[in-house]
Amino acid sequence: MLSNSLIELDRAHLIHPVTSYRGHEATGVKVLRSAEGATVTDASGHQLVDGFAGLWCVNAGYGHESIVAAASRQMRELPYATGYFSLGSEPAIRLAAELAQRAPGDLDHVYFTLGGSDAVDSSVRFIRYYWHARGEPQRDQFISIEQGYHGSSTVGAGLTALSTFHAGFGVPLSWQHKIPSHYVYRNPAGHDGNAIIAASLAALDAKIAEIGGPQRVAAFYAEPIQGSGGVLVPPKGWMKAMRARCQAYGILFVADEVITGFGRTGPLFACSEDEIVPDIMTVAKGLTSGYVPMGAVFLSDHVYGTIADAAGSSAVGQGYTYSAHPVSAAVALEVLRLYEIGLLANGVKAGARLMAGLQSLKDHPLVGDVRGRGMLAAIELVTDKKQKTPLPIAAEPARRIFDRAWKNGLIIRAFPTGVLGYAPPLCCSDSDIEAIIERTAKTLDETLADADVRAALQH
Ligand code: PLP
Repeated sequence: MLSNSLIELDRAHLIHPVTSYRGHEATGVKVLRSAEGATVTDASGHQLVDGFAGLWCVNAGYGHESIVAAASRQMRELPYATGYFSLGSEPAIRLAAELAQRAPGDLDHVYFTLGGSDAVDSSVRFIRYYWHARGEPQRDQFISIEQGYHGSSTVGAGLTALSTFHAGFGVPLSWQHKIPSHYVYRNPAGHDGNAIIAASLAALDAKIAEIGGPQRVAAFYAEPIQGSGGVLVPPKGWMKAMRARCQAYGILFVADEVITGFGRTGPLFACSEDEIVPDIMTVAKGLTSGYVPMGAVFLSDHVYGTIADAAGSSAVGQGYTYSAHPVSAAVALEVLRLYEIGLLANGVKAGARLMAGLQSLKDHPLVGDVRGRGMLAAIELVTDKKQKTPLPIAAEPARRIFDRAWKNGLIIRAFPTGVLGYAPPLCCSDSDIEAIIERTAKTLDETLADADVRAALQH
């Protein structure tokens, strides 16, 4: 069978991202064959609702002929153009202008990358250059947040605060520091939003003092909602308060919108809803809806202007062969059009339904917390709701939950912390959302029936 030979070829040759290599060799790959709307079909014909939009990226859903047409038109006309030597292509220029027009405040200058990790990496390079240009090269320390994720380049993995990305890789680097997350469900400051904001501000103040004062700190990185850390939604006003405190210190504020951008939480950018204008913003994923790779860094007028003035007639040494790739740009322009003719609006409607559906599972014996914003949500499983005892991971690896959901026709993200993540395509219909909720309920019941989980519940 074709699929068996593919499994063998995969086992022998394909290295998968963020995967246990030996575990994967034992279980083998699940091959996806086709997709339409919010539904994907595997090589055996099994159909699943993609409750995670690939990897929080296929915001527009699968099978958009107009996106395919935009890519093929561009491939035929001009498949590649470098941005070096002051060259460019029409779609890249138009895309930069369209994005600048929609981005918060004066984030008017756009540098295109291939994805999120290199967007974060590039942002760090711009920030370092900026502080050199300002005559403050000693501002070389960076602060980010526990449970945060900022990619898996060496620099991004160091800003990340998830142990899988650190162990054995020699990161974080000495100039990368963390403060605790706002993690509302498990915050030592309690559930009150103002208390959590006050605790985060105090933690930021303390960290800055520990580093040697604001004159040592280059930038602070925050995701509007922490995605890979388990969909951690900060209390209302958290981003605004942190942004204001950074501004008071003269520290650059970077919003990493790689997941939250492009309608995932409702508007085109979550920062607008948070009522902030960061100094720098990074995006990827929904920019092209995952059809082709592309990310971007937005620089505000003052950051761009400072860098440009300092470099003068010299080149700013930051660039990739595939920066501002015309095919990716053509795709992104079409995806942007789709967002604005209905996808964003549908995402808001479907997101409200998703949250209501997940809330209806709150009384399930395993559900400790339900959280989210728009089409970005999670439920956190516990074996004791009062004590918030995490699911016993040794007994119930995330993989088993993932596999149960898969059999039930649903793709979700099962984090090793017992958190189930949801980020469905924004095109989801009412019946797609109903299927996500029903199949989640079935998966939870099956998990509850698991002998190891029952044993943990009895303790
Ligand atoms: N930043 C954030 C907030 C992310 O969630 C991710 C990926 O999930 C990245 C950066 C890295 O993006 P990529 O996987 O496209 O390199």
